[in-house]
Amino acid sequence: MTTLTPEFVIGLRDLLGPAYVRTDEATRTAYGVDALKRGTPADVVVLPANTAEVAGVVKLCAQYRVPVVPRGAGTGYTGGAVPIRGGVVLSLERLNRLLEIDEANLVAVVEPNVVTGDLQEAVEKVGLFYPPDPASLKQSVIGGNVAENAGGPRAFKYGTTKQYVLGLEAVLPTGEIIETGGKVVKNVVGYDLTHLLVGSEGTLAIITKIILRLVPKPPVQATLRATFSSVEAAVEAVSAIVRNRVVPAALELIDGESLEAVAQNLGVRSLAPEGTVALLLLDVDGVPAAVTEEAARVEAACLAAGATEVLHARDESEREELWRVRRELSLSLKLVAPLKFNHDLVVPKGRIPELFALVRQVREDFRLRIPCFGHAGDGNIHVNIMVDPDDADEIARAHKAEHVLFSGVIALEGAISGEHGIGFSKMPFMPLALSPEEIALMKRVKAAFDPLGILNPGKMFPES
Ligand SMILES: Cc1cc2nc3c(=O)[nH]c(=O)nc-3n(C[C@H](O)[C@H](O)[C@H](O)COP(=O)(O)OP(=O)(O)OC[C@H]3O[C@@H](n4cnc5c(N)ncnc54)[C@H](O)[C@@H]3O)c2cc1C
Repeated sequence: MTTLTPEFVIGLRDLLGPAYVRTDEATRTAYGVDALKRGTPADVVVLPANTAEVAGVVKLCAQYRVPVVPRGAGTGYTGGAVPIRGGVVLSLERLNRLLEIDEANLVAVVEPNVVTGDLQEAVEKVGLFYPPDPASLKQSVIGGNVAENAGGPRAFKYGTTKQYVLGLEAVLPTGEIIETGGKVVKNVVGYDLTHLLVGSEGTLAIITKIILRLVPKPPVQATLRATFSSVEAAVEAVSAIVRNRVVPAALELIDGESLEAVAQNLGVRSLAPEGTVALLLLDVDGVPAAVTEEAARVEAACLAAGATEVLHARDESEREELWRVRRELSLSLKLVAPLKFNHDLVVPKGRIPELFALVRQVREDFRLRIPCFGHAGDGNIHVNIMVDPDDADEIARAHKAEHVLFSGVIALEGAISGEHGIGFSKMPFMPLALSPEEIALMKRVKAAFDPLGILNPGKMFPES
């Protein structure tokens, strides 16, 4: 906790008006936690209305050396928006306007706290498409997505958030306002500051405006579900689909343990043929003739790889039904155990079977429940260690297992996070993933942006 002087708080109230400077305990606690659920109350929560007010708050924080932590919707899984050093939580919730949909240039301009799903709906109404689709899209906001470089099932075909960010307006930790990039798709003037800020987890600048690239909305979609008696067969199907020159719009892999949890949650005996160890959910999209052709090629690839069953959704309600198992996953896992250590590990997709073998070994060695599911197209698998919060021994085993998993993933040429970032929860593992030289360079970049170290301190890099 930082000790705030009365002058500092008065300065904030003068800037924003008393209603937008909150010091009551309930607000400080609510804004001190994200989806990681390991929070620390803020000392004060501020709600600026525009970029100038954001810059004013940051200048005051710099003057008084008070930490300031930007916050979008607070759905982050690694504690990025948690004020672990106390100070100010700067919520961007009042910067929530969709400023422009520029149909001629296939661009949208938004303030940071536009909800991702709302932007998607708005652009789809005019026949355009914003593909990044984190599962949190009904709550998370574009600023948070940009700060975390969020991705989702569509990443394999369409890429992650960074592929759609053309330009930014941002407030530096010194209070200056910068604009990077713009509405143009090509721009090679100087260093690419736009993409340095994408994924910087609120440690380099506070994003106050975003220019996003849009694409035409694919007219039709088809959904298929294929079941397999081994993960190896499911992954072989993924390779065969790509060999058949199809890039599905979504390609989700769900393991047997996760399927059991969903079946239990929905109160059904089973969701797939007996002996199913892996299930693939696939969407293909595009113009009707291409979709029919691609769906046929996907089915052929799955059957050739040994699928035990391939289902096609015949209409929208069947599509919804096939996707239901995926949507119910998060909630269903709570039945396995109340606490989830959710790791979004990535390996080259050909090595997914080795990742599952590693998980099997860890499950046995540490006596843990670890349902897995994820984005098979890009090798990004959510490995969920489920624990009882009252079982200290199980929690200790889970933490030991994390080390084995992270080291194993790096040995498989993978990465310890594909989507959720580092925040503070994965900070201790950075030295496993990056060399001392790489970490030192990143720290120098941080110092160049934030010489006083006031912006979101205690994140990303281990202390020494
Ligand atoms: C149920 C659930 C499902 C999820 N599924 C996915 C998924 O499929 N894919 C995925 O990638 N993630 C997923 N997430 C994680 C999370 O939703 C994403 O990381 C999301 O991008 C965070 O957005 P947010 O607005 O909630 O950001 P917050 O949690 O508020 O903040 C996240 C980080 O961004 C920084 N930040 C926020 N706004 C700004 C800004 N304007 N300027 C600078 N820094 C800022 C914060 O300081 C923090 O470090 C999921 C989370 C939940 C709870």
